[in-house]
Amino acid sequence: MDIKDILKRYFGYSGFRQNQEAIIRTTIAGGDSLVLMPTGGGKSLCYQIPALAMEGTAVVVSPLISLMQDQVDALKANGIAAEALNSANDFSKDELIRRRCIDEDLKLLYISPERLLAEIPYFLSHIRISLFAIDEAHCISQWGHDFRPEYTQLGQIRKLFPRVPIIALTATADKVTRSDILKQLCLNNPHIFISSFDRPNLSLAVKRGYGAKEKISFIYNFIKARPYSPGIVYCLSRASAEKVATQLCAKGIRAAAYHAGMDPLERVNVQQQFKQDTLQVVCATVAFGMGIDKSNIRWVIHYNLPKSIESFYQEIGRAGRDGEPAETILFYSLADIIQLENFAKESGQRATNMEKLKRMREYAESNICRRRILLNYFGEQTGHDCGNCDVCNNPPRRFDGTRYVQMALSAMKRTGERVRISTLVEILRGMRSPGVMSHHYDALPTFGVGKDIPVTTWQDYILQMMQLGYIEIAYDDGNRVRVTPLGADVLFGRKTAELCVPEPKKPALAGRARTPRLSLVIPVASAAAGQSRSAEDPLLFERLRRLRTAIATREGMPPYIVFSDKVLHTMAAVRPRTLDGLSAIPGIGEFKLKKYGREFLEVLCS
Ligand code: ADP
Ligand code: ZN
Repeated sequence: MDIKDILKRYFGYSGFRQNQEAIIRTTIAGGDSLVLMPTGGGKSLCYQIPALAMEGTAVVVSPLISLMQDQVDALKANGIAAEALNSANDFSKDELIRRRCIDEDLKLLYISPERLLAEIPYFLSHIRISLFAIDEAHCISQWGHDFRPEYTQLGQIRKLFPRVPIIALTATADKVTRSDILKQLCLNNPHIFISSFDRPNLSLAVKRGYGAKEKISFIYNFIKARPYSPGIVYCLSRASAEKVATQLCAKGIRAAAYHAGMDPLERVNVQQQFKQDTLQVVCATVAFGMGIDKSNIRWVIHYNLPKSIESFYQEIGRAGRDGEPAETILFYSLADIIQLENFAKESGQRATNMEKLKRMREYAESNICRRRILLNYFGEQTGHDCGNCDVCNNPPRRFDGTRYVQMALSAMKRTGERVRISTLVEILRGMRSPGVMSHHYDALPTFGVGKDIPVTTWQDYILQMMQLGYIEIAYDDGNRVRVTPLGADVLFGRKTAELCVPEPKKPALAGRARTPRLSLVIPVASAAAGQSRSAEDPLLFERLRRLRTAIATREGMPPYIVFSDKVLHTMAAVRPRTLDGLSAIPGIGEFKLKKYGREFLEVLCS
C-alpha cells in the first residue's frame, strides 16, 4: 500500500506535515535518520507508517511504561497490531507477544531499553525486524534532563543489525544533545530532519506581580470559565504543589498534587485519573513530565518562574498536542527571582544556571512578541509577530513613572540601602511593622509617601525597576536592595522613567473563542458534499464529548484515544450526517469509523 493510503486508512489524515513524508521515505529506503520535532509535531507517524508499509515488526525503544502503553492503546484503537514488552507484563503475556512477532503478526513492538538489550541474543535475532525507532532519543545524553544510563548501550544495534534502518526521534533541540545522539547511536550516514519548533496553537501570556492569594483566585476563576478543560499547574516546590491543589479542591475543583515525594501508587493513580478526564487539574512539580502523553491538555499555568527556557518550553509543550488551541500562563514575581537566583548561585554550575535564568527572565520581561523570543532562543528566526501572545494582543501601556521610582529609590537611600524589598514597601506604605520600627524607619521623610498605592502595585513597580536596571538585589548580602548608577540618574532628575500600567488581575474568559482557530481545517470533501461550513455548535460539542467519555469508560481507555478534541470540534462544526461525511474528518480512519461511526452519527443526526 502507498504511504498516503496508509495515512488515510489507518489514521484518517489526508496530508503529511512538514518533513514527515521525507522521513518516512528515508526509513523505507533503508536509511538512518535523526528527527527533531517539537512535542505534538507528529513524530510517531514517522515510524508507524514505515512499520505498516514494511515487512516484519518495527521495534520501538521507549523509556517509560506509561508512554509505551499509551502508544500501544492508540495504535490498537486504529486497528493496528501492536504490543509492548516490559516489566508490567507477566510471563505468559511475554510469550504470546514473542510468538506473534515470530509469526510476523505484530507490526509494532514497543520495548524498554534494558529489555531490548536482554532480548537481542535470542528473541530479537530470530524475528524479522523492519526498523528500529529510538523514541525520546535525548535520554542517551548526559547533558539532557532525562538521562537514562540504559540508553547509552543502544549503540550496539547498529553493529548487530547492519541492514535494519534506525530512526532516532526527540523533541529536545540543542546541539550538544543532537551530536551526542548521533555519536552514541553510531548512525550510518544519517539524514537529519529538523522541523520548526513553533507551536502556533499555544497562546503565551505572562502575569506579573501577583501575590499568592491573587494567583489562586486568578487560577480558580480561570478554571471555572473552562469547566471541561484539563490543565496542569506547575509549581516550584512540593509544598506549593500540595497547597495549590488543596486550595483548588476546597473551592470545588477536581484537582490533585503530583510530585516525587508522593507514594508511587498514588502518583500512578493521579496520572490515570487525569488521563481519563475524571481529574481536571494536576498541580505538579517538574516530576510530572515525560510520561504525559495526554493529547487534550488545554492549558498549562506556571505558578512560579521556571529555571530555564528549555524547561519552560518542555512544560508548556504538554498542552495542545492534538493541535487544538491551548493556553499557557506564566506567573512571574520578585520572590521567584530571588529564590531562583539563590538556587542558581548555590548550584554546581553557577555561571550556566545564572545565564539560563537570565534568558528565562528576558522572556518574562519581554516587550516584544514572546514567541519570537522563544524561537530565537532555539535558533529559529521569524520575520513576523505571532498574534497569539499577550504582547501582540495587548501591548503594555506605559506612563511617566519617574515620581514613583524616585519615591522608592529615595527611601532606599535613606535607609543606607540596608533593607529588603518587603521592608521597603512597608516604608513606602507607612506601615509600622517590626522591621520598620526596630530601625526607626518611621522617622524617615519618605515614610508613607506612597500610602495610596496598594502593596501589590508597589511590588510590581519595584519589579519593573529591577527589570529596567534602576535597582539590584544583593544576593550575597541578605537580599538587600541597592540603587544602581542608572537608578541614581532617575533619582536625581537627570533621566525620566517609564513604567507599565499594572494590568487588572482578571482571568480571561474561556479561551476557545478568543484564540485564533489556526488549525481547524474543515475538510473540503464534506463541504463539497453539501454540508454546512457553519461554526461549531458548543452544545453539540458537549454531547459529543459526553458520548466520547461513555465510550472511553466502556472500553477502559482514555477519552483522547477514542477521538481527539480536534476531531470532536470538527464534527461539531461540520455536522456530518452520513458515514461518508464522517470519514472525511481528519483523524477518523477506517477502523474507528466502523467501530464508533454509528454511535456518533446518532448524536449528530438527533
Ligand atoms: P509527538 O510524538 O511528536 O509529540 P504525535 O505523534 O503524538 O506527536 O502527534 C501529535 C498529534 O498530531 C496526534 O494527534 C497526531 O494524530 C497528529 N498528527 C500527526 N501527523 C499528522 C498529520 N499528518 N495530519 C494531521 N494530524 C497529524
Ligand atoms: Zn506574539
